[in-house]
Amino acid sequence: MKAAKEAAMPSDSNPSASDTRELQRRDARHHLHPFTDAAALAAKGARVIVAGEGVWLIDSEGKRILDGMSGLWCVNVGYGRRRIVEAVAEQMAQLPYYNTFFQTSHPPAIALAAKLAEIAPSHLGHVFFVGSGSEAADTVVRLVRHYWATVGEPSKRIIIARKNAYHGSTMAGASLGGMAHMHAQGGLPIPGIVHIEQPYWYGEGGEMDPAAFGLARARALEAAIERLGPENVAAFMAEPVQGAGGVIIPPESYWPEIERICRDHDVLLVSDEVITGFGRLGAWFGFEHFGFTPDIVTVAKGLTSGYVPMGAVLVGDRVAEPIIAEGGEFAHGFTYSGHPVAAAAALANLAIIEDEGLISRVRDEVAPYIAARWSELGEHPLVGEARMVGLMGALELTPDKARRAGFPEPGKVGFLCRDLSFENGLVMRSVGDKMIIAPPLVISREEIDALITRARLTLDQTAREIGLGGAGA
Ligand code: PMP
Repeated sequence: MKAAKEAAMPSDSNPSASDTRELQRRDARHHLHPFTDAAALAAKGARVIVAGEGVWLIDSEGKRILDGMSGLWCVNVGYGRRRIVEAVAEQMAQLPYYNTFFQTSHPPAIALAAKLAEIAPSHLGHVFFVGSGSEAADTVVRLVRHYWATVGEPSKRIIIARKNAYHGSTMAGASLGGMAHMHAQGGLPIPGIVHIEQPYWYGEGGEMDPAAFGLARARALEAAIERLGPENVAAFMAEPVQGAGGVIIPPESYWPEIERICRDHDVLLVSDEVITGFGRLGAWFGFEHFGFTPDIVTVAKGLTSGYVPMGAVLVGDRVAEPIIAEGGEFAHGFTYSGHPVAAAAALANLAIIEDEGLISRVRDEVAPYIAARWSELGEHPLVGEARMVGLMGALELTPDKARRAGFPEPGKVGFLCRDLSFENGLVMRSVGDKMIIAPPLVISREEIDALITRARLTLDQTAREIGLGGAGA
């Protein structure tokens, strides 16, 4: 810890480039990273992050970087929160671990389950704890099938999800997700999962107006249910806004129609709120922003602001109560389900969100300001669309704004832009040739201004490097 602090403070010590190179060498030698080209990493060396404060990261050479992605969309309350650190330390001293299997419980899990039931709309009265968003997705698959079997409809087993969705990296999570490159590794999807087209107007809407396109993409769900037979379909699962898919914001017509279709065909509606939960869209949950009512909700990330891993499945009374009434075990659970230290972190994190009024602050102040500033980037010659909802935004990079055209080698310009952004002290992530951001909820106006300045500089440099005319305008 001391070494990390020292490396973070260039005035206290002199973090040297050779220390960084040694960390990078050992990292590349022994550490297999998620979603990383290991050979490219070994050639280049990882960027080593040693500390964080508010929306800022500090790397092993003392450079301050504005974290435009909240880590992986999770550090909602920002870095360096003593309240969470202290809650975790106290819980560790009191009871570092006990499980919630076999008729046992402990106060942090009890308090957190009650708190989540209080925050969520009243029909979501039950909570099943897991360790991550992926485990939440796996839990959904087993839970919805168990539910339909319990209520006497065991043939309802198929789960419909969407292409270019992300629901995790476990076998069921990656299967529910609609990422073709993930399915290609490991023989996925598992049986009983069907994907429909996504509501991605910029990329796939052509000449249709967004509202008509949103309805058409919702009705792809109805067509799939009718084709498969409603007696075989258990649930539809989706993110309110696709995050890892590139911040795909559905047209306003989409969600009400999805909800109608699920109700008409008695298909459970599952909202994956792993990114959109806990304030990111200026509401506790993304479904509240879009105005629909799910039967089941998955959460993780912002539940603890990433300080300690934890996820949960919020289970509607409609689903939980028949299972409870039936008796017998739901034969499912994880050693760390409801982990006391993670639950203590979550309770402190939720208290911060409430005490600082972060949800209304995002809704009324931060989101409108960042949306206005972000839309200015839409004028840039390299940007085909700048979109933003709450604190989730994307820029569609294009060689030809008028045609919403893609680049000949998809993803290459995105990578270039991402690397330049890092050099400019801003974490923006690339998804193909989309640049995306999701900063901490605590970001200030001045920090938003810094984010926009750095993003604009990065766009100018990217345009110049690829020889796009008019750059810098
Ligand atoms: N669902 C969504 C919407 C996500 O964005 C993610 C992670 N990016 C997951 C599920 C999986 O969460 P985890 O990485 O915690 O397993």
